[in-house]
Amino acid sequence: MSKGIDTVIVIGASHAGVGFVDAMRRNGFAGDLLLIDRLRGLPMERPPLSKAFLSGTSDDDAHLLRSADWYERQNIALIDGVAVSDIDAAAKTIRLDTGETHAFDALVLATGAVPRMLPDAVDLSGVHVLRNPDDAKTLRAATAKSDSAIVIGGGYIGLEVAASLNKSGKKVHVIEAADRLLARVASPAISDFFHAIHSQHEVQLHVGVGVASMQSRDGAFTGVTLSDGTSLSAQLLLVGIGVEPDMALARIADVECGNGILVGPDMQTDKAGIYAIGDAALSPSQAPKIGDQAIRVESVHNAQDSAARAAAAIMGVASPEWQAPWFWSEQYDVRLQSAGIVPPAGGAVQQIIRPGKREGGHSVWTFDGDRLCAIEAVRDPAGYMLGKKCLDHARAPHPEDVANPDFDLKGFLAG
Ligand code: FAD
Repeated sequence: MSKGIDTVIVIGASHAGVGFVDAMRRNGFAGDLLLIDRLRGLPMERPPLSKAFLSGTSDDDAHLLRSADWYERQNIALIDGVAVSDIDAAAKTIRLDTGETHAFDALVLATGAVPRMLPDAVDLSGVHVLRNPDDAKTLRAATAKSDSAIVIGGGYIGLEVAASLNKSGKKVHVIEAADRLLARVASPAISDFFHAIHSQHEVQLHVGVGVASMQSRDGAFTGVTLSDGTSLSAQLLLVGIGVEPDMALARIADVECGNGILVGPDMQTDKAGIYAIGDAALSPSQAPKIGDQAIRVESVHNAQDSAARAAAAIMGVASPEWQAPWFWSEQYDVRLQSAGIVPPAGGAVQQIIRPGKREGGHSVWTFDGDRLCAIEAVRDPAGYMLGKKCLDHARAPHPEDVANPDFDLKGFLAG
């Protein structure tokens, strides 16, 4: 164990924070672990919040990150429903909003991210964002009382919510200002695929148009007018236009920040003994890049991986092996699995489609020249696994071979 570390405090008990305390105990840490979150209740998974949790097709307790007795068995002190309001980096203490203070030897910022909001929508009732279980419960209750909804933002969260609301029989409009759905994160072929799926389910897609104005009555949202003049009305609005890393506490502690709390490969910030992990953190030397720009990845895999790296660094053991960043999405009966980062179109970027073994299954392989950058697979777990292995081992088959369904990718990887 790292010398002189008896007490580790973790701020944020979601995928990154819980993953970190788990990794610490697995690495043999026997000291005190304090896990603090301003949300009340046992920590829950986030991905189901836009999927089964929202459509009410599962039991809420099925989505706990760990059972209540796990925290007891692991001797982890979970403090829920209390926010951390201050950090004194020099004195190595934190203060809770109850006024209580705690001393630490190492501190981990796992504060995640906060949803962006549209200024015109801030004070209106009927307007929702979706980040945590409380947001999801509020949205679910509002959905039960509405027969229509508008979703601003055609990214993964907006589209998953649209699919869940559509499943519950609601009339749904999705507004996306970019020229295609999922423009920031997916290849054009995957954007087209999900455009077609949502259209088949009669979700109304408004792509390439912005919101010109927002309508309300007596402080309640009633609809929007689009930049092409179309008027839409609904009782409920979900704003799904992305998130900002939550750097509030990092700034209080005078920790260096950019587009995320800046950390080295060991997830340590510029203040010795203070680490940052998950959606809140950016490790410019490790992060995937688009051009020269380091990308802050927002995913369960990144939360778990960065948590394991911080725990390994504190305990002085080997870091986990590098893996390509991976992600999944579920909309209707479709599961998308992706690995790597899709670069913007242009230059030598090309997409190759490989048919899968299952009906309707396929994968999209993105190359930049002869470098494989990403794989996105729909109803094709076998294609995904092979593509991900290629990425993990930096092996790029020839694009022509990828397009040939008879080409033996397993053999290529073994060779
Ligand atoms: P968060 O989950 O944001 O947790 C941060 C925690 O810190 C919060 O609980 C917050 O209350 C707490 N906190 C912050 N400040 C304080 C403070 N001052 N005091 C106390 N507590 C504080 N990823 C995938 O890979 N696949 C998916 O299908 C997928 N679907 C998603 C669906 C939804 C609806 C959402 C919201 C996210 C989804 N994601 C998905 C992304 C994934 O859930 C996030 O990348 C992951 O939750 C990041 O974990 P985190 O612990 O870094 O941050």
